[in-house]
Amino acid sequence: MSSITTSKVSRWDQHGREHVVLVRKSGGTRQLSCSTCEWRRPAQFLPWLKAEEHLAEAHRATVDPTA
Ligand SMILES: [Zn+2]
Repeated sequence: MSSITTSKVSRWDQHGREHVVLVRKSGGTRQLSCSTCEWRRPAQFLPWLKAEEHLAEAHRATVDPTA
């Protein structure tokens, strides 16, 4: 139904830097990849939640620029 195969989760840290995790659909799973570090991870469920977790834990980026 949705033609969107790539999306992203972006958060800002306290210094105003943007950190982005790309969510790419491949087959039945999704691949997360961080643009700030070399973090890569497959996620079957709740990929956006895992992306948010990584951004918060690895980069202390918790500010949602779209909120
Ligand atoms: Zn990262």
